[in-house]
Amino acid sequence: MAKILIVEDENKIARFLELELKYEGYEVEIAGDGRQGYQKAMQEDVDLVILDVMLPGLSGLEVCRRVRQEGRQVPIIMLTAKDDVTDKVAGLDMGADDYMTKPFAIEELLARIRVALNRRVNAAVKSETLQMGKLVLNLSSHMVTYDQEEVVLTKKEFQLLEYLLKNKNIAMTREQLLNNVWDYEYLGDTNVVDVYVRYLRQKIDDKYGIHMISTVRGVGYIIKDEK
Ligand code: CA
Repeated sequence: MAKILIVEDENKIARFLELELKYEGYEVEIAGDGRQGYQKAMQEDVDLVILDVMLPGLSGLEVCRRVRQEGRQVPIIMLTAKDDVTDKVAGLDMGADDYMTKPFAIEELLARIRVALNRRVNAAVKSETLQMGKLVLNLSSHMVTYDQEEVVLTKKEFQLLEYLLKNKNIAMTREQLLNNVWDYEYLGDTNVVDVYVRYLRQKIDDKYGIHMISTVRGVGYIIKDEK
């Protein structure tokens, strides 16, 4: 069953939501402030986030922005104060999937949760492969081909390529790549990123005579859509 994270500082609302969601069969986790909310939202086993806008620590908008900035696509439903149009618009701008104004009917929230979870399942089926010209990266078989010829990559090379392709047309800093691909905090040494980009270039760019991974001077790397 899907696991839902509730980020809400008002205990009464959080408990009420927890009860209703558990009754529907969902697993529930609660975070009482923005920072904790952000940390928990980044956990891979969370399937959907219900995110209040008004939170101590980090605001809900900021939590949403950071989660998206890290490339995490978990569905987010924002809870905004009644009639606060600015918050609604800002929430959607920050990458929220949907919003509800307080006070809300629980049936409507449950319906929106089902929609958001279904959309995610459909998107997952569609996104089994990432493609870039003749390069195809298959996320289920972990196989990469160029013009239907297999490109043999190590696990890290694959993950780096996957991350760059998922963030196509966005310049990724070395720190971002290190934090997301290597899964450890940036400690000042980003050489490993350059080394792995070099491996990828040898195996793909050089071998097939293409220019896939570009260096963004002073920033990091980017894979751009072919013109
Ligand atoms: Ca609140």
